[in-house]
Amino acid sequence: MKIDVLTLFPAMFAGPLDESIIGRARRAGLLQLSVHNLRDYAHDRHKTVDDRPFGGGPGMLLKPEPIFEAVEKLATEKARVILLSPAGRTFNQAIARQLAQSAELLIITGHYEGFDERVRERLAHDELSIGDYVLTNGALPAMVIIDAVTRLLPGVLGDDESAQEESFSHGLLEYPQYTRPAEFGGMKVPDVLLSGNHAEIAKWRNEQSRQRTEERRPDLL
Ligand code: SAM
Repeated sequence: MKIDVLTLFPAMFAGPLDESIIGRARRAGLLQLSVHNLRDYAHDRHKTVDDRPFGGGPGMLLKPEPIFEAVEKLATEKARVILLSPAGRTFNQAIARQLAQSAELLIITGHYEGFDERVRERLAHDELSIGDYVLTNGALPAMVIIDAVTRLLPGVLGDDESAQEESFSHGLLEYPQYTRPAEFGGMKVPDVLLSGNHAEIAKWRNEQSRQRTEERRPDLL
């Protein structure tokens, strides 16, 4: 999969997306990630990307021209263009799965008070939020989405890191898990997990998933 990101802070992306599973996916060519500086598409002496909102009010807005030019240059016909904004629909595992089917994503991240509305109207196929809170800019939300999508791409996770049996994969939260030792600090691993009876283990896990989801996230049921 190819992902392009448009940002005012390309340096923020170095590090988090070079490490661990995502770094490995990039080195294996499963994810081709390119981070582009929005200022490269501003052509005045000061590389201006923002301006005051018409009608007044606090803060600055990202101007349409640099973003339109960048999208025209970077997005192919196949690209799904995603605008990041707290006002978008809330990103979740189902959306991650849909996005993982795309050949190409172009993620536009904001700063200041956000974007001129015409960016939304004309360029965005989708507008996503990572939750009901406001961050200073869209770099962290972009990295969250890139991570969640990339780990669903075929070949990215090994068997030990499978996405089949985890929270949200069956609409439920994951069941409790234990490793050695079987007893620690007076706390024992449930007997069923030590029984070797795979049918009973599967039944227990399913019940635990349901119970945990009912308690913590009834909205998922
Ligand atoms: N004025 C905007 C509003 O009230 O909706 C908030 C702008 S925010 C300070 C600057 C940028 O950070 C946004 O344009 C967006 O790209 C990004 N951002 C902040 N919070 C976000 C969230 N929860 N989800 C996705 N993007 C977010």
